[in-house]
Amino acid sequence: IAGGIGIFVYVTQKDRHPGTQLPYDPEKKTIVILGSGWGATSLLKTLDTSEYNVVMISPKNYFLFTPLLPSVAVGTLSPKAILQPTRYLARHKARAVTVIEAEAKEIDPFNKTVTFEDDTEIKGEVSHTTISYDYLVHAVGAEVQTFGIPGVQEKACFMKELSDAEIMQRRFKDCIESAAFPGQDNTEIDRLLHIVIVGGGPTGIEVSGEIHDFLEDDLKAWYPELAGRIRISLVEALPSVLPMFSKQLIEYTESTFKESKIEILTKTMVKEVKDRSVVLQMPDKSIQEVPCGMVVWAGGNKGRKITQDLMAQYPNVQTNRRGLTVDDQLRLAGADGSIFAIGDCTSTSYAPTAQVASQQGAYLARVFAQMAKKNTLQARLNQLEQSEAAVTDTAEKANRKPEIETTRKLIANVKVRPFHYSHQGSLAYIGSDKAIADLPFANGNIASAGVATFLFWRSAYLSTLFSLRNRTLVANDWIITKIFGRDLSR
Ligand code: FAD
Ligand code: NAD
Repeated sequence: IAGGIGIFVYVTQKDRHPGTQLPYDPEKKTIVILGSGWGATSLLKTLDTSEYNVVMISPKNYFLFTPLLPSVAVGTLSPKAILQPTRYLARHKARAVTVIEAEAKEIDPFNKTVTFEDDTEIKGEVSHTTISYDYLVHAVGAEVQTFGIPGVQEKACFMKELSDAEIMQRRFKDCIESAAFPGQDNTEIDRLLHIVIVGGGPTGIEVSGEIHDFLEDDLKAWYPELAGRIRISLVEALPSVLPMFSKQLIEYTESTFKESKIEILTKTMVKEVKDRSVVLQMPDKSIQEVPCGMVVWAGGNKGRKITQDLMAQYPNVQTNRRGLTVDDQLRLAGADGSIFAIGDCTSTSYAPTAQVASQQGAYLARVFAQMAKKNTLQARLNQLEQSEAAVTDTAEKANRKPEIETTRKLIANVKVRPFHYSHQGSLAYIGSDKAIADLPFANGNIASAGVATFLFWRSAYLSTLFSLRNRTLVANDWIITKIFGRDLSR
């Protein structure tokens, strides 16, 4: 046991720490990374920082493992379990990485600068700064698409940031406690206990499944008089939920939801969110106002302002409303090659997922390694050519030619391959300890669903978590929740 503990301590503590890392080097190029999400974190994890100065700017000084966010919203997991402070990752890098908690406000691609603002609540005297970059990686993700529908921004809960999950949890518990208030009117109890989820994409489906689990596993025991009255409705404008999954898995999800008493309303569009109701346009185009206690909005993605502003700098090239157009090496179309964009802020032929963003981040780290290699070789070539030019003896000149030729060939061989996305499959949790999976195999896709798939979903996400610390916290929370149930305190 002592040996095991010794190895564990060695493995977790052996890495570099601030103070033993290489310092800023004015001779090296500076990469500024905007964001600390899937794309940016994957890039930082893989990047060889001995070749660059790296500055990471994000309003969140942590990485958020979004796939498990709906589990935080119902208290299955604690928030800390799915967060990884960016500095934990930065301390493992060869050269110290400057991590700045700030929101990038303006990019000047012509003077190569980024202006950012302190995002903390207590601000110091300086809260607004501009820095220069040699390379910029735009990895700011996306924000929630509300389509400007009245009331959504102000009255609905979202499921994008950690704060969204915390707000949803508080509001859900508010609804339950208000419904349990002595003397509450029956109609009002039904309103408070009606939860409406908008969007039949994977986010809406997973949130519905998690709320259902909370209801089944905990609320039935603690609020037996209310549990039977809770209603969950999932509203989707399209004819079906989960359009990215196979027909078989859509049907499986629909039948699981039916058993779970989650009502799916397809071809139904939310037109307004009010304080105590939601206005729906039904499939027959009639309008219905449905009372509810809480609306969770999972209506998809929209580009952030900083992304829209960057697009506006290249009005003739950046015209795709879904996001930034990049070339096959993830360089911003229209720019001079110094700006790269990855993840949800880009418009690509694949769906915006963590899988795509993390593969793009890892790819970009390889691109930077290739570029550094090329720069080193180019510097060596310049040196060789200069010293050869200075030599007057013809025999000595001829002696130096082979190394010059070899270095030229080596430079020509450093080629940056285009980014290629390798789809590993789609997974989603649908509640009741069931998950669905669309997995690509040599002979086509395999659709899998049920409890075994749920165990696969759990193990896949556990292994995808970036650190051992997070894996331990998540596994621990799953066990605690199974044994003691979810926390009902507010
Ligand atoms: P993000 O991960 O969103 O990161 C963007 C970063 O930029 C954040 O750190 C943000 O704070 C920062 N930022 C924002 N504005 C600025 C600014 N102005 N300046 C600097 N930084 C800024 N995908 C899957 O593949 N599998 C799943 O199971 C899955 N589950 C999901 C569950 C939920 C609830 C959600 C919401 C999404 C899920 N996704 C999943 C999608 C996945 O989370 C996104 O595709 C992924 O996060 C995109 O990575 P990104 O790096 O582009 O953006
Ligand atoms: P989405 O774009 O996939 O789905 C949003 C849905 O909301 C759409 O189907 C749209 O028709 C519907 N909608 C929009 N406005 C509406 C309205 N007014 N009334 C009714 N319905 C309305 O969004 P998402 O689920 O947040 O997913 C975003 C991205 O993240 C996707 O690429 C998705 O693949 C990815 N993601 C993946 C997973 C996973 O793999 N498990 C989980 C979550 C998110």
